Amino acid sequence: MKILVTGGLGFIGSHTCVELAKQNHEVIIVDNLYNSKEEVIDKLKQITGKSFKLYKYDLVEKEKIEEIFESNEIDAVIHFAGYKAVGESVKKPLMYYSNNLQSTINLLEVMQKYDVKKLVFSSSATVYGDPGNPKYVEEMGRGKTTNPYGTTKAMIEQILEDLYASDNSWDISILRYFNPVGAHESGLIGEEPNGIPNNLMPYVMKVAARKLEVLSIFGNDYPTVDGTGVRDFIHVVDLAKGHVCALDKMKKGLNIYNLGSGKGVSVMELVTTFEKVNDIKVNYKIVERRPGDLPEYYADPSKALNELGWKTEKTLEDICRDSWNYEKNNM
Ligand code: NAD
Ligand code: UDP
Repeated sequence: MKILVTGGLGFIGSHTCVELAKQNHEVIIVDNLYNSKEEVIDKLKQITGKSFKLYKYDLVEKEKIEEIFESNEIDAVIHFAGYKAVGESVKKPLMYYSNNLQSTINLLEVMQKYDVKKLVFSSSATVYGDPGNPKYVEEMGRGKTTNPYGTTKAMIEQILEDLYASDNSWDISILRYFNPVGAHESGLIGEEPNGIPNNLMPYVMKVAARKLEVLSIFGNDYPTVDGTGVRDFIHVVDLAKGHVCALDKMKKGLNIYNLGSGKGVSVMELVTTFEKVNDIKVNYKIVERRPGDLPEYYADPSKALNELGWKTEKTLEDICRDSWNYEKNNM
């Protein structure tokens, strides 16, 4: 199939482009380079030996999207493009609503016009809110989101449901990611957060690389296995493969899938595994809990297994090794 990948130069998008190309899909990328670098395209070629068409366009400009659909016979779209920093979204909510919603609505309008009605959308476990049970199942539905970023995801899910209700010739897969981490084993592509990272794994790597002094572990008095927070960390290559399955095995209608490993890992377990696998010390200190954090949650990934034949294959050790390999290669 000929697939348009929005945000295809970003962290998850780039890994997905690799897996799509490996399965002989033709990939067209649109990315405005807001949070990525053009050189990623060369890395994708290096990894796969295939070529990728790149449009350096902003999805907020609808006529640019039309141009892409006018000049390519697109079969389906994977929509990653968007802003994703939780803290920044609290400070600049309008910027988040404007970019994430406007770009999605533009994309959907153009898809409708060109009768391209197959979509895979990047959502997040954040839309569950706090359902009161740490094992998240799709049927739980959406809860109350706690920041504008999360609200954009919940709003887009609603927009997609309304769109499907109005026209059931759409096939839409909403993928709710848990905590994507890791990097491609080549060390050529990975996550490159701007400035000081907010998320755990990028912070661990900066401390290991001696670019930041000490990791603050936010709380060790949660009712969890060792008192630190528990999350479902998913290797980005497993996640990327989940997108290929979502496309290749796409069911009719609108479907929602959790993409996670199904296993909770504590912050302390991640840090000690990182140290062991890479034989490197990560300085850390225990500090207060971070406001808004839940103690523990992880995916029930059985729907993705049953309907898409997908499950994670990589281990926490793989995640720690590949993350550090990428960091070392890009110091
Ligand atoms: P990323 O920032 O690395 O990639 C997003 C890409 O979209 C970037 O390359 C950016 O330049 C591009 N982009 C943003 N706005 C655009 C616009 N208006 N027009 C064109 N391109 C635009 O993020 P990621 O980690 O790869 O995440 C991909 C998607 O998955 C996002 O929608 C994100 O919200 C979602 N998601 C990410 C996580 C995570 O922890 N990384 C978790 C859950 C969901
Ligand atoms: N965390 C931490 N120190 C950090 C960043 C995160 O202890 O510098 C913890 C956080 O409290 C949570 C887990 O790591 O329990 C994952 O946080 P992250 O921000 O990576 O993702 P989230 O689950 O919040 O989306």
